[in-house]
Amino acid sequence: MTAECEGVAEARFLAAADRQRLIDALMDAGHEVHGPVVRDGVIRYEPITTIEELPRGWRDEQQPGRYRLQRQDDERLFAWAAPAHSLKPHVFAPRETLFTARRDTEGRLTFETAEPEAPRIAILGARACDLAGLFLQDKHFLHGPHADAAYRARRRNLFLIAVHCTHPAATCFCAATGDGPVARYGYDLAIGEIDAGWLLTARSEAGVAMLARLPVQEADEEQRQAADAAFTAATRAQTRRLPEGDLPARLAALAESPAWAEVAERCLACGNCTAVCPSCFCHAHVEETDLDGGRSRRLRQWDSCFTAGHSLLHGRPVRADIASRYRQWLTHKLAGWHEQYDRSGCSGCGRCITWCPEGIDLLAEATAVLETAE
Ligand code: SF4
Ligand code: SF4
Repeated sequence: MTAECEGVAEARFLAAADRQRLIDALMDAGHEVHGPVVRDGVIRYEPITTIEELPRGWRDEQQPGRYRLQRQDDERLFAWAAPAHSLKPHVFAPRETLFTARRDTEGRLTFETAEPEAPRIAILGARACDLAGLFLQDKHFLHGPHADAAYRARRRNLFLIAVHCTHPAATCFCAATGDGPVARYGYDLAIGEIDAGWLLTARSEAGVAMLARLPVQEADEEQRQAADAAFTAATRAQTRRLPEGDLPARLAALAESPAWAEVAERCLACGNCTAVCPSCFCHAHVEETDLDGGRSRRLRQWDSCFTAGHSLLHGRPVRADIASRYRQWLTHKLAGWHEQYDRSGCSGCGRCITWCPEGIDLLAEATAVLETAE
């Protein structure tokens, strides 16, 4: 094994005893630090101030419809796969006010645009699949001449510290989508975790400046090889594969496949898969009006293509049944996004499989649809 992995090729080594220094440096630089913690039976991002809050020794078991945590007797802080939440809520708020309209006593209307809350947040431990999800959210919210102001404000204030994955779950397939397990873009700093500490790589000016604040030294060959070996093993451990061939064309030709009705027998249209997906961006606009009619707020909140209301046109849902909604979700994710944003809408995080109460697996369903052509 040679130390050629781009994840650690130019890495600097931070000893395990000095890891708190990174959190301290981030806070000194004015960032609120959000890192993975064990809470309510899952690993999720929360504000942290000490390295002790990270999930030391925890492992996750993820299967279709199943997520469990187990404790191991080791010092690893990142030896688990995708956390319960992606980075999406940090930039695309689940519910926020866009503007408020007020009517005065003489009936005149005034409009106030809401100032987005955009604290300077450093995310410690962003996964490669979620950085790819963020890239896709950027494509949606920042493209064209009218970038979304609230999204842009929060996105600009994010400092991203990736962690290369070493322990993928059974639901992961980022290696198949080309997005992981090593983070390749979209971060300021990246961590390769080995027993002795962290191999840190900077990818932005801000990352280089942060690295300069830390007591790092050049990583030696043995440390690089240990990290390389872990990344190679993480890639090989992933056995899930995307169906081969021109998926957009193949799926488009199967809009009437009986497999859509078969999956609809199991799908609850709960929308869990879209909520946990790092790249899903569908939302609804709703009005909240005071009882006296003096004030009305326009809110944007997450929506899902699995709700009947999401496809309402002229009072009737375009996708009236679950089969057509599941088809919309899967074909948009694996096919439509290629046309829209030049890549698949899936980064292989596996969350939609883990968090589906029915354990529905989009890869298995895509395969089932494609097999009906044969
Ligand atoms: S596929 Fe699963 S998670 Fe998604 S809407 Fe259907 S039941 Fe819910
Ligand atoms: S479609 Fe599923 S596996 Fe792909 S990025 Fe979304 S949640 Fe992750």
